[in-house]
Amino acid sequence: MKLIGIDIGGTKISVCLGDSEGNVLASRRIAAQPLGGAKLGLPAIAKEIEELKPKWNEIGAIGISSPGPVSSKEGIMLSPPNLKGWEGARLVDYFSDRFQKPVFLNHDAKAAALAEYLFGHAKGTANLVYLTTSTGMGGGAIVNGLLVQGASDTATEVGHYVLDPNGPLCACGQRGCFEAFCGGAMLAQKMQKEVGQKGIETAVLQEAGGDLKKIDAACLIRALKQSDPYAQEVWNGFIERLAQGIGIVLMAFNPEVVILGTMAMHAGPLLLDPLKQTLPRFAWKEALQACRIETSRLEKISELSGVAVAVTGFRRHRHEGSVR
Ligand SMILES: [Zn+2]
Repeated sequence: MKLIGIDIGGTKISVCLGDSEGNVLASRRIAAQPLGGAKLGLPAIAKEIEELKPKWNEIGAIGISSPGPVSSKEGIMLSPPNLKGWEGARLVDYFSDRFQKPVFLNHDAKAAALAEYLFGHAKGTANLVYLTTSTGMGGGAIVNGLLVQGASDTATEVGHYVLDPNGPLCACGQRGCFEAFCGGAMLAQKMQKEVGQKGIETAVLQEAGGDLKKIDAACLIRALKQSDPYAQEVWNGFIERLAQGIGIVLMAFNPEVVILGTMAMHAGPLLLDPLKQTLPRFAWKEALQACRIETSRLEKISELSGVAVAVTGFRRHRHEGSVR
């Protein structure tokens, strides 16, 4: 079966033609910002889908991976912080009217967890958690073979688990969220402030070409590989909070595998080794012994996230005999 996947992100939107085996047969990308909002954005996405030249009689469903918060039941993007002009966009209605196919929507991190479950190296693992750290953080959990969705789609919003109520202010309004400690944007901000105010001499700043504003998580990882003392200090704090957050995930879901995306893929053993050493302080050994901590190997996870939402929705739709 063939499917259409749509992945909407803060900077780019991708559309692809894929199949239920996880092959991406054709894909296209457009920049999100110039579209300015859903009014122009939705027809632009539809045009890109037409450019894929799908044979519509072969297409089972369309799946959309969207930044949160979303209402998966109503098929609406609610109020994405990084996508102005898309608030309340009725994605499912628009594409089902336009293409006359079943359309399904989910939150991007949950969609990525589905992609790992259906197409990743740990595919079919009944208890699987996907956790990604890039600019922000996101997560999705499969428990006993089913995606954990929750009553209002906020289950597994791991980035906003509060690790310290007196911690730094998060973009969501809470204090001390997991993302406020470990998200790439907050990590960059912390280093820019510290290095600037204290005049710290560090390879982190050199890796940013001497420009404070260009310090980011990638600079940190490169400096860490040079055994820079400041980078090591920041990293130790990062790993401590990462272990605390993942410890909660392990105790909540008791997964067989936790798959880490983005930053963990860049850092590799620099992240995995100290994380595994720190985790026993944050989770029971019964949970730890049952769980492998690995990095994602899915190269086209953004395209496959949309396809995974389509596959899952299509199967449920066929099972229940109703759309959505
Ligand atoms: Zn938050």
